[in-house]
Amino acid sequence: MTTLLDGVDAVLFDLDGVVYAGPAAIPHAVESIAAIAQPVLYLTNNASRTDAQVAAHLSELGIATTPEQVVTSPQAAMPLIAKHAKPGDPILVVGGDGITVELEARGYRVVRTAAEHPVAVIQGFAPHVGWKDLAEATYALHTGIPWVATNMDWTIPQAGGIAPGNGTLVSAVHTAVGRMPEVAGKPEVPIFTAAMERVGAATAIMVGDRLDTDIRGANRAGIPSVLVLTGIDQARTVLTAIAEDRPTHVIADLRELHTDYPETRETFERSTGATYAEAGRAAVRRLGAELTLVRAGEGADTLRAALHLVASSEFGPAAMRIDPALLA
Ligand SMILES: [Mg+2]
Repeated sequence: MTTLLDGVDAVLFDLDGVVYAGPAAIPHAVESIAAIAQPVLYLTNNASRTDAQVAAHLSELGIATTPEQVVTSPQAAMPLIAKHAKPGDPILVVGGDGITVELEARGYRVVRTAAEHPVAVIQGFAPHVGWKDLAEATYALHTGIPWVATNMDWTIPQAGGIAPGNGTLVSAVHTAVGRMPEVAGKPEVPIFTAAMERVGAATAIMVGDRLDTDIRGANRAGIPSVLVLTGIDQARTVLTAIAEDRPTHVIADLRELHTDYPETRETFERSTGATYAEAGRAAVRRLGAELTLVRAGEGADTLRAALHLVASSEFGPAAMRIDPALLA
């Protein structure tokens, strides 16, 4: 039997849509994570919570977690700040505790106005961020100092629904200053580097539910990516994704980290010119740009077989005609 954890020396997890959804744990997440022998780390773009707050939330859900296992986007931003500032320097903060705790731990001085002559600006989400904060960042950035954003998520889920995220607030400043920040969080590489360095890992895998952050980021960082279908992205977006956003592996839920993950078998049928991919019981056929379900399988097997044929096709995802049965 081969599993996705074989030969891996650290397992990196996204949180929302993978470990929990809102306040509750995702089914099978708690026991599947507890059964992992390797170091486990959680990568979060949310800059409003500290590592200790995230660890406490996970521990409440039944996954005993230390703050050292949580890698936040403000933590990943610290090496970017360190390129431009030394301890004692004033840093203008747009954001909350998630950022100020990290800056103060490294000896930087937190300031909130341009009049305090900051040497850099760091911007992350906090619910109290308002126009005055964005205006102070803009005044400071007009002097030409470096600008670091924790992450560029356009939206952030809140109790009342979907709200503007840090990327949307960064965009307001970007429009006013005419340049873009350096970004630390997913899908950029610094947060993956921070996680790997923390445990000295060389062969990690990343498990996430979003193609445009978790999977794209892992691909950019050169780490195998595992899409779990308990969150945002599903068959339709997986099969039509650009190559940069294509996951290395797909699983239905976290139990499949521990079960046999057989290779997808590809065969070519000379008489018809069709190519077949089989994963478990599932079989999918590709003829030219046409992708057709032959036999449905269990769990994520059908999607694995279809994804294999999309990835090995000479046609781009936009040119392929995909059987609606594969997109459901
Ligand atoms: Mg997520």
